[in-house]
Amino acid sequence: MNFIAPLLSVLITSGHGPSGDVLKVDIDPRVNPGVDFFAYANGGWLKRHPIPHSESGWGIGNEVNDEINARLRKIDEAAAKKQSPAGSDEQKVGDFWATAMDEAKAERLGITPLKPELDKIDAIDSVSAALTEAFHLYRVGTGAFFSFSVSQDEKKSDEMAVHLYQGGLGLPDRDFYFNKEAGVAKIRDEYLRYLQGVLQYSGISEDDAKTAAAGVVAFETELARNSRKLEDLRDPLHNYNRMSVDDLQHRLTPTIGWSEGLSGWDLKPSSVIVGQPEFFSALEKLLADTPVTTLRNYLRFHVVSDALPFLDRKAQELDFHFNHLVLNGQKQPRPRWKRVLDAENGAIGFVLGRIFVKEYFPPAAKKRYADLVEAFRHSYSKRIARLDWMTPATKAMAQHKLASLRKKVGYPDKWKDYSTLQIGRSSFVENMMHAAEWGFNDQVHKFGKPVDRTEWGMTPQTYNAYYDPSNNEIVLPAATFAVPGKMDADLDDALVYGYAGASTIGHEMTHGFDDEGRQFDAKGNLKEWWTKEDAAKFVKRADVMVKQFNAYEPIKGLHINGKASLGENIADYGGLLIGVDAFKQTEVYRRGRSINGLTPMQRFFLGYALSWLSEEREQRLRRQLLSDVHAPAKWRVLGPLSNIPDFFEAFGVRPGQPMRRASGQIVRIW
Ligand SMILES: [Zn+2]
Repeated sequence: MNFIAPLLSVLITSGHGPSGDVLKVDIDPRVNPGVDFFAYANGGWLKRHPIPHSESGWGIGNEVNDEINARLRKIDEAAAKKQSPAGSDEQKVGDFWATAMDEAKAERLGITPLKPELDKIDAIDSVSAALTEAFHLYRVGTGAFFSFSVSQDEKKSDEMAVHLYQGGLGLPDRDFYFNKEAGVAKIRDEYLRYLQGVLQYSGISEDDAKTAAAGVVAFETELARNSRKLEDLRDPLHNYNRMSVDDLQHRLTPTIGWSEGLSGWDLKPSSVIVGQPEFFSALEKLLADTPVTTLRNYLRFHVVSDALPFLDRKAQELDFHFNHLVLNGQKQPRPRWKRVLDAENGAIGFVLGRIFVKEYFPPAAKKRYADLVEAFRHSYSKRIARLDWMTPATKAMAQHKLASLRKKVGYPDKWKDYSTLQIGRSSFVENMMHAAEWGFNDQVHKFGKPVDRTEWGMTPQTYNAYYDPSNNEIVLPAATFAVPGKMDADLDDALVYGYAGASTIGHEMTHGFDDEGRQFDAKGNLKEWWTKEDAAKFVKRADVMVKQFNAYEPIKGLHINGKASLGENIADYGGLLIGVDAFKQTEVYRRGRSINGLTPMQRFFLGYALSWLSEEREQRLRRQLLSDVHAPAKWRVLGPLSNIPDFFEAFGVRPGQPMRRASGQIVRIW
């Protein structure tokens, strides 16, 4: 009677049995946890969830996003059908959605919404006209030649400053222009073809587009040659060079009309912070040496390339082929509604977010995670007090910084006011440009005003979190705590301490003390507060981790960049150590009761691995290795855990196994 057996197993496994336990069912029991903990903890899930053709990777973050997207879509669809008062949140959301989803309209319009910008670019007849246009394009969302922002002054965190930074590249990072690995070389060939395709699409003949594309690549390659490497951008002092606008104008870049450009943006600073002065000197020379036609083509390419996702089918095919297939390995485009939601989240995300948290993030969850932050702060403080290598003077300063660290949990207390943003039904791309312009004005108008420390840099529906050194704060959006298919109340403490706790709260908290964050003081100012002796000891200890990660080779010929990813790796490792300590203080740990054969400490480490449950296509992995300061997910499990003695004990990892570094090589920072 074989129909009885399945029925029985359903009865046994429902509710709190293994099938309801994400940690248990995700395990691949054939893998030894001491050999590859990532594959052990997540292998079961990964086997059941191959990467969909429309994605470049798949994992827990995507599943959380899928759940959130389904909710947001309902909000959008309802708003699109309603007649809401002009200027209201619902009107903006509804009009944005209805217009962006209208494929027939995008087809009818073709490239015409970009016509006014393209006409202006066609009229460029000098270097200075090209720069005037570049200043204008910044307003509507296209950055060219360099990067710019108005943000807190690193040395005076209660003032806003104008920052100028290296930039202007079409590929994700400077290394893409030079790295000799075969996959990267192929990307360069494809990029040339993409440039040509975009220029042709914009109305240039095939022959002219070919010549133009080669000129733009040569120009960008020179910009890249004069850009600092990813790891060299991690030194905040080295990337902070305050200079008067006079010096910027007359000594560094006489060709760029800064005073007109900046005042066109409503900015009249007397000084600016230049990240990489040598980049700007090189740009100055390059502008003089480059034919105006190339500057025109360069601007034309960037405007059109940025707008492709919001235009007609031909444009979307161009965008898909290079930006998704070549760079990320996606096999087919994502459904239109998902792409529209991504654009909407970028453009008016907080409008959506306010509606979202009202329905989906209850006060009990907000309290649980606010309390968790305090538990972690307490454990970190005790750990700092116990450190045998740090002098009392530095310890006292570290304790002060930790005690001053602010937390933002779930969603903003004060919502951004979008009332002046115009969203209508004329075209998808115009709505995107309006939103970009609104965001730009919002940013530049902060200059000269008191810093608003209540602001959030991520929407509540973002599956991510951050540490902001200028505010000495951790920001934890509501979505980052979510486990797909589960209500928050269903998640046991062991899982939560590993998952949201170690991987997110502890991780972000220790960023304030990593190789970069430690250079900022309790008030968020770039200022030395370590004794020389302690700073030297920290660097020496951190160097062990640089070497550990440099040795990982996820793609043959491409290693993890140990220096560029150091801050993130220290944060993963520190988050785990604090997490273990904090978890040991809980009732669940003290009682020691196993759930589904897993001890509390095992569940804690599995919870940590759950937060990195994902895999990606080789193309995206390559892109990440070259341009991201985060190590790929798998190594964020393998790397830090192989330094954690409580982990060895929980899973019986023996000396000599891959998940246990030799005692002389173990990282010892926190
Ligand atoms: Zn981080």
